[in-house]
Amino acid sequence: MVYSVVLLVGVILGTLMQLSASVCCRDREHINVFRCENCNEKLDARGFIPVIGYGITKGRCSTCNKNTISFSIVDEVLSGICLVILYIQFGMSVEFIIYSLFTLVLIAITYVDFKIYEIPIIFNIIICILGIFNGIINLSDWKEYVIGFFAMSLPIYLLIQITGGRAMGGGDAKLLATAGLLLGWKLIILSFFLACILGAIIHSIRIKLSNESHELAFGPYLALGMFIALMWGDGMIGWYLSLI
Ligand SMILES: [Zn+2]
Repeated sequence: MVYSVVLLVGVILGTLMQLSASVCCRDREHINVFRCENCNEKLDARGFIPVIGYGITKGRCSTCNKNTISFSIVDEVLSGICLVILYIQFGMSVEFIIYSLFTLVLIAITYVDFKIYEIPIIFNIIICILGIFNGIINLSDWKEYVIGFFAMSLPIYLLIQITGGRAMGGGDAKLLATAGLLLGWKLIILSFFLACILGAIIHSIRIKLSNESHELAFGPYLALGMFIALMWGDGMIGWYLSLI
């Protein structure tokens, strides 16, 4: 019963996050979820009812019948599933609330970065606030979080300065800083390495499948790496340390 409630709340929050992400970026016409990507006509408002909306509209534009909002159902269901996974791990606690909000922002980053190759600053501000709040309630470990802020962001910032931003964007460095403040230095370093491995594998599969070169949006892989590190990072680090 409680899992269904968490799932439902996750789905609803996932929808709200996606809509607010679209509002935040409304000056960029190619991320307006309120309009059809194909014919630019306004989409049926009923389509934005979580999950049920997908049943009503079949994810299709009522004007041109093209399937344009398929990502929203993925986003909603993913948000619900992630919140259930977090609930199993953390129970009903302050951590659960902080990490749930963090995960919802990560999903929004994935959506936006894939579309516009940019991480809007508002997402980093939200993560930074969550990080400060988490630091206050875990005050004895404050050094862990402050080091986390710089652990990956500083090397990546220097790399961007040296390479002129070809390797990664400033948004990635800011995300590594704010998420490092929230996760601490061990988990942010792990997140980065997971993101590199996942990015290399998934990106090369995407290029193979579509036979064209895609511009690499690193944000989604960072987001995935951060979620994995948040959930199973301590176990992974413990296992690695036992090997050496
Ligand atoms: Zn259309």
